Amino acid sequence: MMPQQNVTIIGAGLAGSLLSIYLARRGISVTVFEARGDMRNERVEAGRSINLALSDRGIAALREVGMDAFMLSEAVPMRGRMIHSPISEQKLLPYSGREGEYINSVSRSGLNIALMNEAEKYPNVSFIFGERCTDFDTATGEASFASGRTFRGDTVIATDGAGSPVRQAMQQQIADFDFSSRFLDHGYKELHIPPGPDGSFLLEKNALHIWPRHRFMMIALPNHDGSFTCTLFLAHKGGNPSGSEGVPEPGFDRLTDAAAVLDFFTREFPDAVPLMPTLVEDFFTNPTGQLGTIKCWPWNAGGNALLLGDSAHAIVPFYGQGMNCAFEDVRVLDTLIGNAGTPDWGAIFTEYGQLRKVNTDAIADLAEVNFYEMRDRVADPIFQRKRELETRLEQTFPDYFSKYSMVTFREDMPYSEAHRRGNAQDELLMNICSSVDDVSKLDLNEVAEHLRQLEM
Ligand SMILES: Cc1cc2nc3c(=O)[nH]c(=O)nc-3n(C[C@H](O)[C@H](O)[C@H](O)COP(=O)(O)OP(=O)(O)OC[C@H]3O[C@@H](n4cnc5c(N)ncnc54)[C@H](O)[C@@H]3O)c2cc1C
Repeated sequence: MMPQQNVTIIGAGLAGSLLSIYLARRGISVTVFEARGDMRNERVEAGRSINLALSDRGIAALREVGMDAFMLSEAVPMRGRMIHSPISEQKLLPYSGREGEYINSVSRSGLNIALMNEAEKYPNVSFIFGERCTDFDTATGEASFASGRTFRGDTVIATDGAGSPVRQAMQQQIADFDFSSRFLDHGYKELHIPPGPDGSFLLEKNALHIWPRHRFMMIALPNHDGSFTCTLFLAHKGGNPSGSEGVPEPGFDRLTDAAAVLDFFTREFPDAVPLMPTLVEDFFTNPTGQLGTIKCWPWNAGGNALLLGDSAHAIVPFYGQGMNCAFEDVRVLDTLIGNAGTPDWGAIFTEYGQLRKVNTDAIADLAEVNFYEMRDRVADPIFQRKRELETRLEQTFPDYFSKYSMVTFREDMPYSEAHRRGNAQDELLMNICSSVDDVSKLDLNEVAEHLRQLEM
């Protein structure tokens, strides 16, 4: 057991709130500073839920603090991707061929609130809301806040998200601090499908819906109350007319009035539009978000500060792993704290970074590639045959996991290994599927043998 320590957490988002529980369980005193007000006292925007996909890595981290069963009871299971074609046909591509392997749609604020409520059960945790961190001194470990307040504990863990001011201070103060940000040309906008009569679901409940349209796409995740949260991913700037038909490429910059929005949605997502009565209002009320990948190094300022979660490695959301990865960060850090006999934060943070960086780089790359897969390839017949073959293989061979399954359902496998193995498998399976029309005629034993040879 470590001597008594006081840890400052900046940011009571998903990672910071979970981290406070883990640290409290180790007897560490935790003060969490959050820029926003307490979301438990504030009305969620028009009662609408923003959701996100919770999968095995995140569930594993919740399980260790006894929060998994509660969160799963609040979640809607999504067993596969429901592909909506331009002529409103639907096709379900299961996420896995195995029973029990699915992802879960959870309310972002619901999860955040549950974590804060749990943390506050510990007398050694306190949350301070409405305190925006503005600066951090890497030499003294002192954090400064917009209110004029300064604060210094034994160490700071910055879970202050993609725009982290602590990271910015480290960038200015640490020589050779390595930082890169890469933003997609695409942004996103959240939209809404309300519940049907008596809270019924107007689309298949247990699926993540996708309308892939090559240059852009829309997705929808179910909420507990029967509604769906839709997200449109679209270029910020439309392109010039391309191809023989001279059709201009759509972009947010072209959707400037109600007629343009309705025309675009009716043409591209004809089956969704009748389910979206507040489409135009939502479109112009909700902000357009940016999507980017942030990488930086080192993640720690000696023993004075550590970046964790999106502050260290924000990723694009196309593998549904940003939060799951941040929760895994917390679990890994906690294990190292548990193993350390003394509160040598510098040594703990250095080891944590060395273990974690290769894995967060891997999921960042996987997530970017998955954007193109979801947008362009899920509608491609070869890709669909590959998914069917992967499902058949998973149904037949307990030791076979597709790339998606390794990333999403194998909490015991580092992201870097899932990345390496998954890419090799993908190449082989795409080759096989490009030369057959019907995967049910393939000899599965032969395919499995080829896959096993890849592992050698
Ligand atoms: C459109 C979209 C969809 C996504 N879908 C998924 C998904 O399906 N599955 C998944 O796993 N991940 C998903 N993600 C990623 C996920 O949202 C993030 O990875 C996750 O929120 C990271 O948690 P965090 O605690 O590190 O950061 P955040 O959740 O951003 O929390 C940061 C906290 O710090 C606070 N803060 C910021 N600045 C300051 C400051 N100066 N002082 C004090 N406090 C501060 C913020 O108010 C916030 O509370 C998605 C992301 C996006 C954009």
